[in-house]
Amino acid sequence: MLMQLVVLGSGTSVFHAQRAAAAFWLQTQSGSLLLDCSADAPHRMAAENLDWPNLDAIWISHLHLDHCGGLAPFLFGVKHAPQTQSRTKPLKILSCAGAEKLVKAIDESHNYELFKLKFPLEFKEIAGDKADETIEILPGVSASFLRTPHRRESLAIKLTDQSGTTLVYTSDSGFAEELAEFARGADLLILECSFYQKKPIATHLELKEAMRIAELAEPRRVLLTHLYPEWDGIDLEAEAQKLWPGETIAARDGLRVEI
Ligand SMILES: [Zn+2]
Ligand SMILES: [Zn+2]
Repeated sequence: MLMQLVVLGSGTSVFHAQRAAAAFWLQTQSGSLLLDCSADAPHRMAAENLDWPNLDAIWISHLHLDHCGGLAPFLFGVKHAPQTQSRTKPLKILSCAGAEKLVKAIDESHNYELFKLKFPLEFKEIAGDKADETIEILPGVSASFLRTPHRRESLAIKLTDQSGTTLVYTSDSGFAEELAEFARGADLLILECSFYQKKPIATHLELKEAMRIAELAEPRRVLLTHLYPEWDGIDLEAEAQKLWPGETIAARDGLRVEI
């Protein structure tokens, strides 16, 4: 096993009994990374017995609160938790544009002192206008980015470890062939698939578009996530199989995927 992904939240901004809002824990050989941090994420990390006091890095894809609403509460938690009082290792927060401003606004609204932790906090924002920008997010794990048709700031991320294993997380996105090109040959493509059919909004995907991206990108496996309650009672994997013959996994909270 080179990396392990734990689905913390396979859902959306619509509250759902079995699906928390967007968050994924990625364990690599050189550290841990949280992919998006919904308001549900801190509790879900604890529920899955993950080592949240030692989390190395956080990625925030865009500023919709079902993707970043847990960031300030997470910092508040690790500021005061007994488990983090002796931590010295920095926490990296890599994000789309605007995440630091958002946390600062919350911080200043009540003098929470979220930036004064026992350990260093390193914010780095990605504008996404440099096509070949690459960041080492964890030792030996590089990240590159693609702007997506969802929000002005929204970005997909591609992670590549030392062995060449790649994971792409689209986060929320409308349809774009560039996204398929970006995800080409990924070992795991975490692809949003908000709606079954007749999507009500251009800036998300419905199943046939998601599977068109899979067909173009030819990843080793696809994990479909960001599932609105419309999906309840539908066999997503069976429906996906009709459109693309590759391996498709329907995300559900608590699912662990070895990469
Ligand atoms: Zn979302
Ligand atoms: Zn969104």
